[in-house]
Amino acid sequence: MNGSWRQEAACARAGVDPELFYPLDLDLTGAAVTTARRICGTCPVRGLCLADVMATEDPARRWGVIAGLTPDERTELHRDQLVPASRAAA
Ligand code: SF4
Repeated sequence: MNGSWRQEAACARAGVDPELFYPLDLDLTGAAVTTARRICGTCPVRGLCLADVMATEDPARRWGVIAGLTPDERTELHRDQLVPASRAAA
């Protein structure tokens, strides 16, 4: 996947601290996750970001809020994607 989309990322905008996306507190309702999610929510390349992280992230090393999702949420999404469509529809 071409990485040029990263130049349009909301997290790459001037003044946005990259550390915001790697909070120690991953409480889903906490200020840290909420702040990161709010920025991802304005990101024009969120879909590409999500596709990229789901395709490339090492499941054993998930960290940070990426594409608006916490590591646990990405683990859950990854698990859901592994469920065969015939089982998911049952
Ligand atoms: S969705 Fe969030 S983490 Fe992904 S590129 Fe956009 S701002 Fe950055």
